[in-house]
Amino acid sequence: MKVEFFKHNITQEEIDSVAQAMRSTFLTAGPVTKRFEEEFAKKLGVNHALGMTSWTTAAFLVLKAWDIKEGDEVIVPSMTFIATANVVVQTGAKVVFCDSEGSTGNLDASKIESLITPRTKAIIPVHLYGHMCDMKAIKALANKYNLKVLEDCAHCIEGTRDGRGPGQNSDAAVFSFYATKNMTCGEGGAVATNDVNLIERLRLLRLHGMSKSAADRYHGNYQHWDMELLGYKANMNDIQASMLMPQLNKIDEFRARREEICRYYESRFDAAGIRFPVVAPGTTSARHLFTIWVDPKRRDLMLDRLQKAGIGVAVNYRAVHQLSFYKKYLEGQTVNLPIAEQIGNSTITLPLYVKLTQEELSYVVDQVIKAFHG
Ligand SMILES: *Cc1c(COP(=O)(O)O)cnc(C)c1O
Repeated sequence: MKVEFFKHNITQEEIDSVAQAMRSTFLTAGPVTKRFEEEFAKKLGVNHALGMTSWTTAAFLVLKAWDIKEGDEVIVPSMTFIATANVVVQTGAKVVFCDSEGSTGNLDASKIESLITPRTKAIIPVHLYGHMCDMKAIKALANKYNLKVLEDCAHCIEGTRDGRGPGQNSDAAVFSFYATKNMTCGEGGAVATNDVNLIERLRLLRLHGMSKSAADRYHGNYQHWDMELLGYKANMNDIQASMLMPQLNKIDEFRARREEICRYYESRFDAAGIRFPVVAPGTTSARHLFTIWVDPKRRDLMLDRLQKAGIGVAVNYRAVHQLSFYKKYLEGQTVNLPIAEQIGNSTITLPLYVKLTQEELSYVVDQVIKAFHG
């Protein structure tokens, strides 16, 4: 049997929607992008959203909008995808890695305060696997020290914790629509926020600093535009937005199916004594990734065995501070991130997507249990 690590869920509906956009006047950011931004904000219960080309550019521009630069510090978890740390380095600010909770794998709010200095400007919690971080605790700390909070929501559109979703307890929530994410247009991203000043600044930053968008410039008669600041190029376009639009109506149904798959994994692995990250009380996880935590001495052997059994697996993630670039970046500093290291050395990600059949699911579990004991 062969079980793919991931299969997307693009249907005729998305294909038709993209075809319609391609037949229209605007291929770049036009009416569909605008409609997507409105609908996406509504879905999240947040006032504003802006479509971007990726999570990475969107997060970078949010940090730029907050004027984060050399001499500043930003706290990020080491247990995340490299992009979370990279965008901080790209602004010239210093990345300060924080350790994770041993139960959920998420940024440990209780370990943040000791890392705060007069130079600290922001915190980037990551809702790992789709399980939300303790945003109440993180936001309280941020308020106490006057720090910005940028939520890395690449894994979490549909999740909630303590009754609040992404963007409702932070200064900005940043999303990814990369190929394997819960909602996708191949490559894409978005920012959601209640801060209208941030949105206006991001509008400029994502389009060269121009005072009028393409839609504004060509709607009716030509109008002169101005360049107000040095911007970048990161706007979403109507082809991307038209692919995302139909998915907005389906993400909750898809989440429910992934929840069933995760519950099956959890009950079988519980019975077999295999550990996995827990979903904290009061949390509805977006269920983006399902990972198990095994003996670090056997992890790579298990990866190998599972792949030989035809099962697609991945590692999300090895601790960022242990990768070559960051080892050099941190040279001479002492880092104390034992939980991130432990997770990074013990984690295996298993297939999790709506198209996974019960037969495939049972096969994956059987093979994992066999490799675990073998
Ligand atoms: C995918 C991902 C990103 C980067 O998203 P892009 O849209 O590819 O830039 C950032 N953070 C996390 C946690 C991710 O999984």
